[in-house]
Amino acid sequence: MIVAKTFKWEAAHRIPWHNGKCKHLHGHSYKMIVEFEGEPDENGFVIDFNIIKEIITPYIKAIDHTTIISSKDTELKEVFDTKKWKYYLLPFDSTAENLCKHFADLIIAEQQTLLKENKITALSIKVFETETSYTYLSVQLS
Ligand SMILES: [Zn+2]
Repeated sequence: MIVAKTFKWEAAHRIPWHNGKCKHLHGHSYKMIVEFEGEPDENGFVIDFNIIKEIITPYIKAIDHTTIISSKDTELKEVFDTKKWKYYLLPFDSTAENLCKHFADLIIAEQQTLLKENKITALSIKVFETETSYTYLSVQLS
């Protein structure tokens, strides 16, 4: 059974090498759905919705109302460093695919105990860049 929760944030970004309009700095109302798969325990819970909210919210707070910058985009990073503007640094371009992988990796690395305690067998992440465009990654944990 899958238990899922939706999170939202606002952020700006650009894909510097993109041939179309994505090379320009622009914003998205991002939406992320985090899915936890496992068997319900004796209380009928796979994982408590409140716990999901508690562990994921810090990741959302860190990226909300920032400009997501790739460390390879030295031109943009320099401007933000000079101006002391808030940004969220990634070691790769901020495509929806990379954001999906980024959050899956973060959650798996930092929430190992919780995932084990709740016997979570798969973690899946959907990152919506727009209402109609999203990426989906499912990672088997056992
Ligand atoms: Zn975009």
